[in-house]
Amino acid sequence: MSTKVMAVNAGSSSLKFKLYQMPEEIVICSGIADRIGHDDGIFKISYDSKTKKKVIPLRDHRVAVKLLLDALIDLQIVQSLSEIQAIGHRVVQGGKYFSDSVLFDLATAEKIESLIPLAPLHNHAHLIGYQAFKDALPDTPAIAVFDTAFHQTMVAQDYLFPIPYRYFEKYDIRRYGAHGTSHQYLGLEAEEFLPGVEHPRVISCHIGSGASITAIKDRKCVATSMGLTPLGGIMMGTRTGDIDPSVMMYACKMTGKDVYEMYQIFNHKSGMLGVSGISNDTRDIEEATEKGDERAIITNQLFARRVADYIGQYFVRLGGADIIVFSAGIGENSGYYRQLIIDEIKDALGITYDKEKNLPLRGEKALISLPDSRVKVAIIPTDEEIMIARDCVRILKL
Ligand code: AMP
Repeated sequence: MSTKVMAVNAGSSSLKFKLYQMPEEIVICSGIADRIGHDDGIFKISYDSKTKKKVIPLRDHRVAVKLLLDALIDLQIVQSLSEIQAIGHRVVQGGKYFSDSVLFDLATAEKIESLIPLAPLHNHAHLIGYQAFKDALPDTPAIAVFDTAFHQTMVAQDYLFPIPYRYFEKYDIRRYGAHGTSHQYLGLEAEEFLPGVEHPRVISCHIGSGASITAIKDRKCVATSMGLTPLGGIMMGTRTGDIDPSVMMYACKMTGKDVYEMYQIFNHKSGMLGVSGISNDTRDIEEATEKGDERAIITNQLFARRVADYIGQYFVRLGGADIIVFSAGIGENSGYYRQLIIDEIKDALGITYDKEKNLPLRGEKALISLPDSRVKVAIIPTDEEIMIARDCVRILKL
C-alpha cells in the first residue's frame, strides 16, 4: 500500500523538505523555508510542475513548519496531515552511537544533543526541526538518518588518529566522516554500471561546496576522507581539508588570532576561496581561469591534486577499484573539474574516458569511461532525501 513520507533537512536558518509517495518513490512536493529568523524569510514549494514562492516573516523553525503544513492543505497536496505517516530527519553527527537510522525519540534526541560540541550549528538545528514537527504532528513517528552512520563500518586503523589513545577513550576523538547517506546511495547506484561484479569496489567522490571521498567495498564504507568534523579530507569551497596541524599554532602566532578565530578561518575562509581570493564557487574560479588569473589556475591545480591523492590512496586501500563516481554540485555539473581530476589519475589507474562526452554533461547519470578503461568512471546525481524516505519505510515497516 502507498504511503506518504516527509524527508526533512533542518539547518540553522533553513528547512528543506521533500514529500514522497512510497514505496513508488514519487516526489509529491519539495521546497525550502529559508532565512529562518528573518522578517524577509522565503518559503518556496514546488508540486505538480508548479512553484509557489513568498517572502514572509519566519520567526523560527516552528513558524516554518506551520507554514509548510498549512501549504500542504491549502494547495491540496494532501487532504489531511494524517496522510503523512513518517518524518525522516537528516542529522549530521551521530558520533559513535548510531550505525543505522533509528526512531527519533527522546533517547535519540538526548544523544544528538550530547554531540552538539562536534557539530554545533547542525545538530542543534536538527533538534529544533525535530521539535517543531513533533509539536505540529505529535502522533507522526520520526526517524533520524545520520550522515555519519554509513561510516561506522570503518576499522580502528581507518578511524583512529595518531594522538594519545586516551583522547579517543575519554573524549571519543576519532574520524566520523560525513555525507554518509550520499556515499551509501552512490555506492548502490554505481552497481548499475557493474553487472556481474561480485564484490563491488567503489570510490565515491561527493564533491560540492563540502566535499568528501569514500572507499566502499561490498556496500560498506572502508575509509572516508572527512575526519572528526567535515573540516578534514580534501580541499573544499571554504574548508582547508587535511593540513599539517602545526599550521594552526604557527598561523595563530603570526597573525595574533586565537585558536577559535583561526578555526573559523579554516572552515569558512580557506579552501578554494582562500587560495583563489575570488570565490568558493567553482563557476567563478573557472571563469577567472579562462581569463588567465594565476591564483585561479593554482587553485584548480591544488584542488585536483588533493582529490587525486585521495583517489589514489583509496585505490590502494581497496586493492583496486571497479568504478569511480563523481557527484554533488561540482562532480555532477562541472566537466571541467572532472577532467582536471581524471587527468591527474588516468595514467596510474589505466583510465580512458570520452573527453567530448564528459565536458558538457550536467546533472545526469552517465558513464564517461571507455570500454577499455581499467576502472570505470561515472557521474551519478546524488539523492540523500530518497535514502531518508527509504529508511522511514524500512524502519517503521510502512
Ligand atoms: P553543493 O554543495 O553540492 O550544492 O555544490 C555547490 C557547488 O557546486 C558550487 O559552490 C559550485 O562550486 C559547484 N557547481 C559547479 N557547477 C554548478 C552548477 N551548474 N550548479 C550548481 N553548482 C555548481
